[in-house]
Amino acid sequence: MSVWTEIQHQIGQVLGRDFVIADRRSVGGGSINQAFQVNDEHQSYFVKLNQASKVAMFEAEAAGLKEMQDSRTIRVPRPLGWGTAEGHSYIILEWIPLGHGDSQAWFAMGQQLATMHRQTHEQGFGWHQRNTIGDTPQRNPWTADWGEFFAEHRIGYQLQLAQRGSHFRHWEALVDKIPTLLAHHPAPSLVHGDLWSGNAAFSQGGEPIILDPATYYGDREVDMAMTELFGGFPPAFYKGYQAAWPLSEGYQQRKILYNLYHILNHFNLFGGGYASQAQQMIEQVLRTV
Ligand code: ADP
Repeated sequence: MSVWTEIQHQIGQVLGRDFVIADRRSVGGGSINQAFQVNDEHQSYFVKLNQASKVAMFEAEAAGLKEMQDSRTIRVPRPLGWGTAEGHSYIILEWIPLGHGDSQAWFAMGQQLATMHRQTHEQGFGWHQRNTIGDTPQRNPWTADWGEFFAEHRIGYQLQLAQRGSHFRHWEALVDKIPTLLAHHPAPSLVHGDLWSGNAAFSQGGEPIILDPATYYGDREVDMAMTELFGGFPPAFYKGYQAAWPLSEGYQQRKILYNLYHILNHFNLFGGGYASQAQQMIEQVLRTV
């Protein structure tokens, strides 16, 4: 069965009626997958395609969206299904016509994210399945201690991918210091995990929406740090967040370590100048202990 026939079939099953694609358009802006808007005369859906071997990525994305949706705190596109057909993998999501956020809408996004972060998990830090960050696997074994989780499954894992950190000076000292740097006892929070500006959006009515997550239970500060990594979100977002749940002391120092994870990931995915940025961050973190 062709991938589009399979997708039509799956949408039809969810809708309980025949769904025949009348129109299919490419949607730009994605970094990893091919994205499309498909519709019949009544309804639109958002579809992403990749190679069949990437199906676990879509399975984890659908599960992450579901977890966030079930928290009833901030809007995410509803996942309809995922699967493989004809050498492709696919995910089908609710189509949300996107608009722009004014400062009130950004304030609401901050508040709603803080409310999502209030959702905790009794098993600690991690998640019930692996997922991906960009194209890189992300391991999420349940771990009681946050410092251990972040040292081993976040920074340590990326350094392992970067040939045991051989590109970097002082990486062993850094890994040793992580438990001390992260000894602030955060509660496990449901986090988006990849919250850069490309994954923050608004409906046409200005309702906040977060997209394309790398969900797990972690220190809520990982999301806030990432919003600051590539230029920052508007001030109203931070005001809204702080009004709902102020950040803890020491965030400014931990933020660099949290963002180092993403820069190491960028180095592993794209190479180039990210090596020197990662090196500077390693040294900056080590200066704070
Ligand atoms: P990728 O996984 O390839 O990075 P994204 O999930 O980030 O792709 O989606 C790419 C772009 O498509 C987003 O930046 C956004 O503009 C748009 N988009 C994503 N999800 C939806 C949706 N459910 N409805 C409408 N537009 C969407």
